[in-house]
Amino acid sequence: MTAVQLASECAQQFAKRAEAYDRDAAFPSEDIDDLRDAGLLGLLVPERLGGMGAGFETYTDVATTLAHGSGASALVFNMHAAVTGALATIPDDLARQLGVPEAFFADRDRLLADAAAGALYGVAITEREAGGRLSAMRTTFAPEGDGYRLRGHKSVCTGAGHLDGYLVAARAADGTDEAPRVSYFLVAASDGLTVEPSWDPLGMRATASNGFRLDIHVPAAALIGRLEGLAVLLAYAMPQWLVASYASVYMGVAEAILAEALAYIGARAVAGQSAGLARVGFVRARLGRAEAQVAAARLVLREAGRSVDARPVDPETVRWVYRAKLLAGDAATEVATSCTEACGLGVLRRGAVMERLFRDARSGAVMPPSSDVCADVLGTAALGLDPVTGSDVRPW
Ligand SMILES: Cc1cc2nc3c(=O)[nH]c(=O)nc-3n(C[C@H](O)[C@H](O)[C@H](O)COP(=O)(O)OP(=O)(O)OC[C@H]3O[C@@H](n4cnc5c(N)ncnc54)[C@H](O)[C@@H]3O)c2cc1C
Repeated sequence: MTAVQLASECAQQFAKRAEAYDRDAAFPSEDIDDLRDAGLLGLLVPERLGGMGAGFETYTDVATTLAHGSGASALVFNMHAAVTGALATIPDDLARQLGVPEAFFADRDRLLADAAAGALYGVAITEREAGGRLSAMRTTFAPEGDGYRLRGHKSVCTGAGHLDGYLVAARAADGTDEAPRVSYFLVAASDGLTVEPSWDPLGMRATASNGFRLDIHVPAAALIGRLEGLAVLLAYAMPQWLVASYASVYMGVAEAILAEALAYIGARAVAGQSAGLARVGFVRARLGRAEAQVAAARLVLREAGRSVDARPVDPETVRWVYRAKLLAGDAATEVATSCTEACGLGVLRRGAVMERLFRDARSGAVMPPSSDVCADVLGTAALGLDPVTGSDVRPW
């Protein structure tokens, strides 16, 4: 069975549980068990380490398919994929050029092999003041004994309390605002990490994206790349796992909304209720516009996937990645608005599939970089301005 077929089987199970997990804003443990059993936690792990060895394009198909069953569970998967995908696909040559020592490659292989064996990772960047902007992080790291001490607070982390490892962004305690030396650490779940039950949002509720405090000693090997200050550099050069991975999830949500609207309006026509909604021209036109918007965003996402696989470090790939996030995030929100208007109140009762999808879709344009930030990055590039200094908005 292909990875996408496995994802499709998982999505069918996700759909059966989605309402309950959403209602309780609970972590979808059974869905993640399904992913683990299917081997999909190792999707991006090289075969030599026990994984499936897939690339970004396959990842986009898998995440989109999972989101057809549950956007929230697909987002948990996305966070895990962001960690494993970034680790697996940073070219060794680029890592060495950046000054990464040889010891990193063994660290990386161990983390990836653990993922293939079923370990679940997540990402902890967001802070209350900084949002997702890496250069504004307030969580700090400082040398301590044979490793580092991390101290700080993360306000949103998908799966917090349910993960085996957390990719934590932190700045050097002795850094300055001008040169913050922001780094990633892979922090194993432990007592030094105190989860705060703060998550009760509008949509994507079943991601259990609670905040946590951390005050913890980590070994030297926890510093990704064993080199300080890589995070912002990589975010500009290879933003795919911070940007276009979300696009896949919200693409799937947009497709699910369209499918739900088509089924509802088709059924209303067959049952002969009202005037038969399918016979109303502007209802059909809303569906037609939604269909075209979803198809267009899907094509751009596919191109982004192909570009990342073929040329992972390339300014044009970066532009495809931002285009995909912008179009998928906007498609989810706009298709949700238009399709619910076409269907009417019948799809908006509490507990209806469309009602959950509508709420989930709202997060697409909000998740970093927000649609406005993506558009600004693309406008800056189109004007030929420097991606870091050419705009007054720093995406990272
Ligand atoms: C379902 C869900 C799951 C999430 N899971 C995770 C997770 O696992 N890990 C994690 O780290 N985070 C996670 N987040 C948080 C997400 O990354 C944040 O929503 C994001 O970082 C933006 O932060 P904010 O919403 O607090 O917006 P704010 O930072 O308050 O910003 C508000 C708006 O203003 C814009 N803005 C403000 N100031 C600037 C500026 N200087 N430059 C550019 N734009 C600016 C932002 O783009 C945004 O649209 C999740 C969010 C959601 C909705």
